[in-house]
Amino acid sequence: MRKTTRFLALVALLLSLPIIAPANERVRATDAEMYPADVTYDARIPTPEAFLGRALGAAPVRHHELVNYIKAVAELSDRLSVEVIGYSHERRPILFVVATSPENQARIEEIKQQHIALTEPDIDQPVTADMPVITWLNYGVHGAESSGMDASLPIVYYLAAAQGPKVDQLLSGSVILVTAVFNPDGHANRIAWLDTFSSNIPNADPNHIEHDYDARLARTNHYGFDLNRQWMSVTQPEARAWMTKWHEWRPNVSVDYHEMGSEQTYYFAPGVASRTHPLIPDEGMRLVTEVVGPSEDFLDSEARLYFHGDRYDHFYLGKGAAFPLVNGGIGILHEASSARGIELDTSNGLRTYRENVRKHFRTSIANAEGALAKKQELLDYQRNFYDSASDAARTHSVKAYVFASPGDEARLYHFVDLLNFHRIKVYDLERDITEGGITYRAGQALIVPLDQAQHRLIRSMFETMTEFQDPKFYDVSTWTLPLAFGLDYAELSARRLNSSLVGTEVSLQMPVADLPDDASYSYVFAWSGYYAPRALNRVLGAGILARVAPREFVAQTTRGPYEFDRGSIIVSFDRQEVSRENIREIMQIIAERDGVFVHAVTSGRSVIGTAGPDLGGQFFKPLDKPEVLLVVGRDMDWYNTGEIWHLLDERMNMQVTLRDRSRLGSVDLDRYTHLVFAGGEFDAYAPEYADRIRRWVDAGGTVIGIRQGADWLRANVLDYVEPESVAGVPVEMEIASESGHDLLPEEIAEIERFSYAEKEMRDAIDVVGGAIFSGDLDIAHPLGYGYSRREISLLKNTKEPMERPLNPFATVIAYSTPPLKSGYASDKNKDALEGTAALIADRKGEGSVILFADDPNFRGIWYGTNKLFLNALFFSKAFDPPPEE
Ligand SMILES: [Zn+2]
Repeated sequence: MRKTTRFLALVALLLSLPIIAPANERVRATDAEMYPADVTYDARIPTPEAFLGRALGAAPVRHHELVNYIKAVAELSDRLSVEVIGYSHERRPILFVVATSPENQARIEEIKQQHIALTEPDIDQPVTADMPVITWLNYGVHGAESSGMDASLPIVYYLAAAQGPKVDQLLSGSVILVTAVFNPDGHANRIAWLDTFSSNIPNADPNHIEHDYDARLARTNHYGFDLNRQWMSVTQPEARAWMTKWHEWRPNVSVDYHEMGSEQTYYFAPGVASRTHPLIPDEGMRLVTEVVGPSEDFLDSEARLYFHGDRYDHFYLGKGAAFPLVNGGIGILHEASSARGIELDTSNGLRTYRENVRKHFRTSIANAEGALAKKQELLDYQRNFYDSASDAARTHSVKAYVFASPGDEARLYHFVDLLNFHRIKVYDLERDITEGGITYRAGQALIVPLDQAQHRLIRSMFETMTEFQDPKFYDVSTWTLPLAFGLDYAELSARRLNSSLVGTEVSLQMPVADLPDDASYSYVFAWSGYYAPRALNRVLGAGILARVAPREFVAQTTRGPYEFDRGSIIVSFDRQEVSRENIREIMQIIAERDGVFVHAVTSGRSVIGTAGPDLGGQFFKPLDKPEVLLVVGRDMDWYNTGEIWHLLDERMNMQVTLRDRSRLGSVDLDRYTHLVFAGGEFDAYAPEYADRIRRWVDAGGTVIGIRQGADWLRANVLDYVEPESVAGVPVEMEIASESGHDLLPEEIAEIERFSYAEKEMRDAIDVVGGAIFSGDLDIAHPLGYGYSRREISLLKNTKEPMERPLNPFATVIAYSTPPLKSGYASDKNKDALEGTAALIADRKGEGSVILFADDPNFRGIWYGTNKLFLNALFFSKAFDPPPEE
């Protein structure tokens, strides 16, 4: 009854809308017929065209239009329910639609519970004939690829309004889950551009500004995260929202709609066979090829070009095309060749936006039908996938993983939270165990046994891999999570694991430290906690003086003598302009919100006498609050810069100024203590103000370079030599010596020749597309504060080695020998990296130059190296140059 009233209200609303003639002049004949012609529709449900007042594809659908339409249709239909499952960073809602027959809707909870029981072997739930197949249609994880979002309107319309036995069968045999929009912020950014530069007369000229937008901002979320790399790491709220639902339902089929380059045709799974992750069962890949059958039939029936088995793969398990395949389901990626606007001239003919909306919509129906046709097999497969986990665990040599994060409960919490999020069971370690030279302590370390339902997912997160069938990867070649989190961890064989090790199951809370005692002399906190930099920023931001300890010291605290590590932060009462009362309040906030324990020290005197420093020791360094300018813009790597913005703004609550690189010239650098150049395109970057940056560093500024930004700063700041001081060597001569002579016959004979058939493989062989390398960290250096082990794991996705600088103290991290821990790198690249610098910290004039060969903040999941970057902000002046020679 409520629905009828709302229906009348909606009709009134529709009647009150201005009548806009559908922009049919924008609809090309080949793309004219949006809906399957052999179906009738319930006239009570408004079509997207009637609701929008324009043809689909004539102009992109805005987020609020999509939200209003889907909500309106759900109100009118007893087949649909809709729920807001979360909000983006920019506060836009993410909708989740459950579409099924009215009979199934009436017992939807029961259906869900029965279905999930298939994934829990202990329950022993049989597959029964009345169990629907669960199909998940996912639109808009990449906001720039907006035709997928528009396709969510006709599919919701179809699911609500289509009549006849075919759709009745589909709805009674399936539960279809529609998520729209996965990435509303990126989508809104895209649509704003398209609308801003839309013309009355569609302009297919690729040079038109409509087609030339900065797709990176729209592909990603607010902080530049690629949400289709978030299925496993779920560090972003959008991914948290939909992955919560995903695990709640464990769909049999998950389909992802995208756009690719404009010069392609139409892709859908399966991807390149030789690049399927070894943990994905063959049976899963076979089901992929069968479920997409109806999509092939549809495209064949219209003689449309498409391809699979190429370009994309099922290797990186943190994306939509692969994650479901290690969770008992299948993942199908669809990619339409982008029209980059309403219409675009391409070498394959005119691409239209409507064409892509239509293809995505019609293959959505096809995929749902493909899933229904394979219902029994998909459900059996899912049940067997989880049922066989125990057998797989029995034959696998590793029986459990133990792990710990000494001195940093927050990092441990984030890791366990991630495992629990993916329904992986974690237990207390009951007894101490020593493995690989590290003792894991009962009560501190945790253990994950492999004999559990998520056996394969656990392995995919913990294992390392260095042997590959194919050297080419669409994404990273490895993502071993304990290494990303910088944890101590070890695998346990059957000989080492016994039941007395495994304690009670745990789910951790964000750690909160005990409130500090009242200090009579000084407060001190350790630097090992993940949120210690946030704590220090609170102190400095309140105008409180703080100093960092360059070496261990033993001080008397209210709880007895305590040995503090290097990097500990001292907040004494000497010369403070802030009252003791206010300082104490901030220390309480630090304990509560940052989970950092604050010690109350009662005397400045070293407890061990002159064998250790007193609190007023001369080498303790006073600290300044960092004022950070982060260089962003079109030529900068938006992922790298976004990760830094996210780390500082979202995690550390630190203010950071973002400035476009092309607009850096007019900035008064003296407002800032730090200038950060992340990765990006630097080949043609030779600004006239480079000299100003050099002078600013000489006067005390710190520049931080990451990846290509590090190479540029190395050449233009750290190793820069004034041209006139190059003694007597004319510039022309230097160039001539590099390549200026005719080749000798033996040199010509050495020029290699390959078959063109090998080109793709040879192109791939030299790429370091994302591998984990081992480095040796100088933990005595201020940039190593907070770390207790010299070995550190680094995610590397560039290959140029960074030579060590002349200052022998400045190579804070050097790559180990051998350097590769997990992932793919050619022997040539491995050899070239051995012993070279991964992190350089050098003084120049009054300032500092800090260079990271790799991205320490990779995808917001590299918790283990975030502190290196934060150390570069807080301790960039805490080390001294080498003595003059
Ligand atoms: Zn995409």
